[in-house]
Amino acid sequence: MSTEINAVREMLQSVEKVAVFTGAGMSAESGIPTFRGDGGLWRGRKPEEWATPEAFMQSPEEVREFYQWRRGIVEEAQPHAGHLALGNWSSGDSHHVEVVTQNVDGLHQRSGCSRVWELHGSLWSQHCHDCGTPESDLEKTHCPCGGRLRPSVVWFGEGLPSEVWAESERVMRESELVLVIGTSAVVYPAAGLVGMAAGAGIPVVEINPQPALDSQTVCITGTAAQVIPILLE
Ligand SMILES: [Zn+2]
Repeated sequence: MSTEINAVREMLQSVEKVAVFTGAGMSAESGIPTFRGDGGLWRGRKPEEWATPEAFMQSPEEVREFYQWRRGIVEEAQPHAGHLALGNWSSGDSHHVEVVTQNVDGLHQRSGCSRVWELHGSLWSQHCHDCGTPESDLEKTHCPCGGRLRPSVVWFGEGLPSEVWAESERVMRESELVLVIGTSAVVYPAAGLVGMAAGAGIPVVEINPQPALDSQTVCITGTAAQVIPILLE
């Protein structure tokens, strides 16, 4: 691991703009379930069955309770050493760091990252299902228009938010180095972002317990909490 870490440290010394792309593996180390085929039921159904527009249409109150339960898990969880090292580094002067994440838990923001693009939305915001108006008060259930409020997360079967997608493409395009952390990045369309950077000749550094990308320049084998604090110290 140390050979690769030294190589990436050297690469970082010669660049200013860094894109960080994170996925479920980053949050899993803080005890946040990934909700993709990892078992466990909530009220007799798989979590991914609650995360659909159909479930919301049928049982809006239960979907609301499902998300309150998930928020409770995140509130009790703590950012791990990798989150904190990344937050500390990104708020320093050495690099311009922007984070593109597939996670909806807000742990990057809680650990000090200020430029975060959430591809799959956020557990911590909601908007009107009918008129789209955002509502920051998570206790509210209805919009002034009478429509129901829904969590601003991207559900199965829905497209990614176009503005966030455009910003994420910009982050990748403008970056001089991409760090991919805790994701196999095989799920499209998000996977296309990493492929786009690699295709443009931007070095891609993968940090994963098991190498998963086929486009990486360097892979540091290890978890985010193990590798990032050493890499960025
Ligand atoms: Zn409304």
